[in-house]
Amino acid sequence: MDIADTPQESAFRAEARAWLEQHAPRRDPTKRHKPAITDAEQDAHAKAARRWQRVLYDGGWAGLTWPQRFGGRGGTPWQASIFAEEQAEFDVASGVFAVAHGMVAPTLMVHGTDAQRSHLDAMLSGDEVWAQLFSEPEAGSDLANLGTRAVLDGEEWVVNGQKVWTSGAQYSEYAILLARTDPDAPKHAGITYFLLDLRSPGIEVRPLRQITGVAHFNEVFLTDVRIPAENVVGDVNRGWKVAHTTLNNERAFIGGGNSAWSIAELTAMARHFERTDDLVVRQGIAAAHSRAEVLKYMGYRIRTAVARGEMPGAVATTMKLFYARHWARSTALALQIQGAHGSLWGASALDDGLWQQTFCGQYAVRLGGGTDEIQCNVIGERALGLPREPAADRDLPWRETRGSGR
Ligand SMILES: Cc1cc2nc3c(=O)[nH]c(=O)nc-3n(C[C@H](O)[C@H](O)[C@H](O)COP(=O)(O)OP(=O)(O)OC[C@H]3O[C@@H](n4cnc5c(N)ncnc54)[C@H](O)[C@@H]3O)c2cc1C
Repeated sequence: MDIADTPQESAFRAEARAWLEQHAPRRDPTKRHKPAITDAEQDAHAKAARRWQRVLYDGGWAGLTWPQRFGGRGGTPWQASIFAEEQAEFDVASGVFAVAHGMVAPTLMVHGTDAQRSHLDAMLSGDEVWAQLFSEPEAGSDLANLGTRAVLDGEEWVVNGQKVWTSGAQYSEYAILLARTDPDAPKHAGITYFLLDLRSPGIEVRPLRQITGVAHFNEVFLTDVRIPAENVVGDVNRGWKVAHTTLNNERAFIGGGNSAWSIAELTAMARHFERTDDLVVRQGIAAAHSRAEVLKYMGYRIRTAVARGEMPGAVATTMKLFYARHWARSTALALQIQGAHGSLWGASALDDGLWQQTFCGQYAVRLGGGTDEIQCNVIGERALGLPREPAADRDLPWRETRGSGR
């Protein structure tokens, strides 16, 4: 594993920094942004992220690692990391393209038709935000149990059902959708993967408000929604294989994310509350620093593997789990450092309650993209070779299984 910049990478870093200096304001490192909580703040954030994506696109910095034939820059994963490191020093909005860039695009590059891949350019330019319509009330960890039905009617599929936890659906133009097209096949075998225009008739998006006050995700109700047959990705009833590509990319994407806080902030907080002599606080900060370093090197390992054309496999799952635990432990430490002040909320709390928000935000990371327990199962089965979980319904027709409800 090589971690120092090569001369070419140093030159790339200098070029990226110079471009960013010209196109974005520098971030004040002593101030953390108040998170977008209200609907108006979230909307403003989404618009700012679209504007910044357009600036990247016009400047030739969008899709850094995407092949040039798909409109990208054809760069290396290392260049993407270098650019992300440099961009973190600037005050720009990002995040709303996580599904489009991190999950849909890599899936379409592998499984999509040329017509489907024509969306890639709009994703890069910031014109299309995408959502992921996978989870349902009875299909989260056991995603293959999903019950949203799609029935072919001439040249169109007619979809009925309910999805839930759909991040960003309220400001997305398109979605990837999994629906059951053969209820008589075993649960993994009768699913089809669709591209859905969210402006189609019959779609109702209802935001769900979380403990933090943010309506990050939604319930989505689909009633007689019509999808053209050419929007099927891969083969009919073979959508599970396509979904795997999406889910693998999702894990690597979440685990590779930058923390919303830094260890330096924890140290500054310990100074502020005069807790730097407290042995438990000192050990906590040292442990948080060690975890952050481990994560950094795990990230390097994944990028090195990808650069050599290898699949990171279980490392991505391990990193996602480790990242979630790091988030939980480090934000709990932040509230511990604050002592009684840690129990305050909103404007009464330190930094307008940013740390309380970040602490509650751990559940998004620990559940989204597969829960901690499911990551442990994956590591146990695929990395450690432990016996598979028993699954009595694996080979039964989905219609006959407990979860189908019909
Ligand atoms: C912030 C956030 C954003 C999300 N965004 C999206 C999105 O955009 N699109 C989308 O489709 N979904 C999204 N999800 C949904 C996410 O994928 C599911 O929440 C997740 O897969 C868990 O499913 P569930 O919530 O139904 O919990 P369940 O599957 O019902 O699990 C409940 C509990 O049981 C445990 N459990 C379940 N099965 C097992 C098992 N076999 N072994 C051990 N423990 C088990 C789980 O770990 C969990 O603790 C999002 C979730 C979050 C938190």
